[in-house]
Amino acid sequence: MFDHPSFDNHERVVFATHPASGLNAIVAIHDTTRGPALGGCRVWPYESDAAAVTDALRLSRGMTYKSAMAELPLGGGKTVVVVPRRGAASRELFRALGRVVEELSGTYVVAEDVGSSPADMSEVRIETRHVTGLDTAAGGTGDPSPNTAYGVFMGVRATAKTAFGSDLSGVHVAVQGLGNVGFNLARHLHAAGARLTVADISEERVAAACEAFEARAVAPDEIAGLSADIFSPNALGAGLNADTIPRLKVAAVAGGANNQLATTEDGLALHRRGILYAPDYVINAGGVIQMCGEYYGWIVDEVEQRVEAIGPRLETVFAEAMGSDTPPGVIADRMAEARFRHD
Ligand code: NAD
Repeated sequence: MFDHPSFDNHERVVFATHPASGLNAIVAIHDTTRGPALGGCRVWPYESDAAAVTDALRLSRGMTYKSAMAELPLGGGKTVVVVPRRGAASRELFRALGRVVEELSGTYVVAEDVGSSPADMSEVRIETRHVTGLDTAAGGTGDPSPNTAYGVFMGVRATAKTAFGSDLSGVHVAVQGLGNVGFNLARHLHAAGARLTVADISEERVAAACEAFEARAVAPDEIAGLSADIFSPNALGAGLNADTIPRLKVAAVAGGANNQLATTEDGLALHRRGILYAPDYVINAGGVIQMCGEYYGWIVDEVEQRVEAIGPRLETVFAEAMGSDTPPGVIADRMAEARFRHD
């Protein structure tokens, strides 16, 4: 574990099993300098236990950076639950996970992620209060996607301001992915006067966006190479890679998808091409801000103000990046590290 390539001095890594419910979980707590380590519970049929460990280490570290950058009183953590097939996790499994979280005495706060739902978190809640991201009916704040999308919108606006010195009126944005985040983002962009071209593998979502936002549609494999002002990835991760980056015909990339860069070198490749890149974990922090607010009981205004702060924060990252001829992702990492590393 200690020389694992993804190990980054994680404070604690817990392996927990509960055979009666089928729980096989890894809870990775990367850093608690700023507060309890918050991170979702990913439930996935991993090919190997080694792959699950790598995910837990990598994703928990990512949460530390995301929360530190958003200036939240949180650290970073993640739970990974290994299941034999998708949908195999029972209510008993989440109750057992809740007991594991409770034993961590508030150093870790769990939430939903790929493969788990707010309803699953309600099961966890029976065993521990260190859980967030519950349904409104269960006393939570509900779907975080609207706040994520609003934060991404703030970020796209800040990106246009830096790249073009303008607001979004008439700016052509190529939106990839019209799911919970992408569709809400398209709504904000349209209201702000942006011109939209959209793509999704779901024809219904594309049709709905064209109708509601006067958008033009292109095929999913065309959107990344479209000639536009800003490319906004809101589908899956690793969309910016050695294949897509040379094809980009935009001045900037700003979208909500997680882990957009396939490798760190891809951040450098964008920088070398003179394409302004809004680091994903800075621009898509709206959801974690909402989850943090739910955990601490913040009022709606507090959450909104913190989501709106994503815009100015990105402008600071861009200014430092341009002033030092450094990729914005490198600057963001340094700024985040300064907020949690106090060696
Ligand atoms: P979602 O599943 O609701 O939407 C994803 C959309 O992308 C779907 O409509 C899907 O059809 C589409 N898609 C998939 N492959 C595509 C392709 N090749 N080309 C075009 N479209 C494609 O997910 P979401 O909640 O909207 O999340 C989108 C991204 O934002 C993910 O990377 C997610 O990790 C990230 N994110 C989401 C949140 C949140 O609050 N939901 C928070 C932070 C980050």
